[in-house]
Amino acid sequence: MLEIEKAEGLYLFDTKGKRYLDLISGIAVSYLGHSHPKVVEAVKQQAEKYMHLMVYGEYVQSPQVQYAALLMKHLPKNLNSVFFVNSGAEAAEGAMKLAKRFTGRTEIACFDKAYHGSTQGALSLIGSDAMRIPFQPLLPGVNRLRFNNIEDLSFINEKTACVIIEPVQGEAGVRVAEKIFLKQLRKRCDETGTLLVFDEAQTAFGRTGKIFAFEHFDIAPDILLLAKGLGGGMPLGAFIASKEIMETLSNNPALGHITTFGGHPVCCAAGFAAMQVLLASDLIQTVKEKEALFKKLLVHPSIKQFRSFGLIIALEFDSFTTSKKIIDTCISNGVITDWFLFADDCLRIAPPLIIEDREIIDACRIINEAIADATA
Ligand code: PMP
Repeated sequence: MLEIEKAEGLYLFDTKGKRYLDLISGIAVSYLGHSHPKVVEAVKQQAEKYMHLMVYGEYVQSPQVQYAALLMKHLPKNLNSVFFVNSGAEAAEGAMKLAKRFTGRTEIACFDKAYHGSTQGALSLIGSDAMRIPFQPLLPGVNRLRFNNIEDLSFINEKTACVIIEPVQGEAGVRVAEKIFLKQLRKRCDETGTLLVFDEAQTAFGRTGKIFAFEHFDIAPDILLLAKGLGGGMPLGAFIASKEIMETLSNNPALGHITTFGGHPVCCAAGFAAMQVLLASDLIQTVKEKEALFKKLLVHPSIKQFRSFGLIIALEFDSFTTSKKIIDTCISNGVITDWFLFADDCLRIAPPLIIEDREIIDACRIINEAIADATA
């Protein structure tokens, strides 16, 4: 277990001064690296103005308004109402409640190997029996469909309030939805009046080479979930829908979702500053080249598969024993990687987007050496 004293840019420093290259961004959070000066400045300035004032929704707080406006500027017209919450799990909870209220239906569809959070509603959707069953009973009326299986879309019907999907399943070890599958899913939702929810907790903010991953698929969701990178390193989540849909949370009951700290002004100021830096940079345009460099450099006969969709990459090995050995060696040699919740035979690579070629070259050399070592 590392004890970290400081983090800056791509690097973490432990209490002995040893430097570690962060190849996983604190699990898809720190897309600008750690403690970006503009984000730190925004946090300081907002903390000096005001921190918590009142339960979310009672006062106009400009950091929330400003950030919602910036997000909306880069989203399709139908995603014009932002509800800020504390986390990805709370965003999933909010989306499920919203879909139930808007449609008057109770059933929810999700996918195998999905991850939407660890609270009881989100846990009801988790695509792992081992993680779900010990906490049952959970939400009733959850239908688990096979990811990328068009036949299973017929289980979505007039009773389904919403379908929740990650366009790229992170914890499944980077499973990318096929375009045809998502288009058919959109069509099926339109036919049955079911709301389509995209969970982009891991894939937004440029990680896939576009601001939001759904932009690759020529379709838009009815509800978008954001978290992780949303707060620029501070805790923040959001569910985003049309005003028409969102309004259903304002009546019967009037306070359909209550959160004390959701949309905390300091977190919104941090997320806003981070997104402004991202948009003013060419980082998003560099993602595909950086992905290609990883792919070119990470070659070894024991890599069973290289799966990626931008800078979210899984290297698959034969077993957890192998991947664990590689991960441990990498960490000892100053490169932080990890496995995935539902793919422990894979190595996770999801670095801050600020990573440069020379750091990719260094990281890949260390990973290749660790692979050679583990599989010798
Ligand atoms: N959705 C997805 C796709 C995630 O990857 C995660 C976290 N790994 C969550 C939701 C839950 O986010 P949080 O931990 O902030 O509740």
